[in-house]
Amino acid sequence: MIAPGGTLVVATRNRGKTKEFREALAALGVVVRDLNETEGVPPIEETGETFAENALLKAQSAAEILGLPVLADDSGLCVDALGGAPGVYSARYAGEGAPDADNNAKLIRELRAVTESESLRDVGPGLLSSAKFVCSLALFVPGSGLHLAVEGAVDGFILNERRGDAGFGYDPYFWLPEFGKSMAEITVEQKNAISHRGRALRELLDKLRIEP
Ligand code: IMP
Repeated sequence: MIAPGGTLVVATRNRGKTKEFREALAALGVVVRDLNETEGVPPIEETGETFAENALLKAQSAAEILGLPVLADDSGLCVDALGGAPGVYSARYAGEGAPDADNNAKLIRELRAVTESESLRDVGPGLLSSAKFVCSLALFVPGSGLHLAVEGAVDGFILNERRGDAGFGYDPYFWLPEFGKSMAEITVEQKNAISHRGRALRELLDKLRIEP
């Protein structure tokens, strides 16, 4: 699908994400570039209703502009007591460009309102709802019309109070019962081993029949 030594573009301008992808895809033997290192791809609006739709939209648009294979991701948090919100709106839950602190504050405010008014099933002391992180990856190869789509998820619960300082986004509020810790209290290695993104990346490598 992608020849060794060929170029694979990851549809992100986030250098942290590029580093993560570059490490995870080392076994492919391809040159990984991101949108900071390529020209001509405008910001792509995430108009899809699912993570998979958004990932494919980003991969296909960038691949058709660049004429190169592109890997794109879309991820977020789905909270059961909020009917799956914030979902595809995770990054902009409290508004376009909102910082993590504002998104987290809105999440806890909305969840407390719902759990108080609907006296939902008690999910455990200090916990507000079951939830999951989801990551969709799409790889699109221009010209061939070939594409691969994979998804990874990790189940957990939303904490009433934040715990830990590692990670980013909603990590301090995401409780992992199997660790007895929040996602912001585990190491990067532990997070990669169980996270939605780590699982999706391993699934992608598996589909490409490459050992991670
Ligand atoms: P994306 O970059 O468009 O996929 O935005 C994903 C958004 O979902 C981020 O801005 C975070 O708010 C949230 N998110 C995705 N993955 C994680 C994670 O591993 N930890 C915490 N928050 C995450």
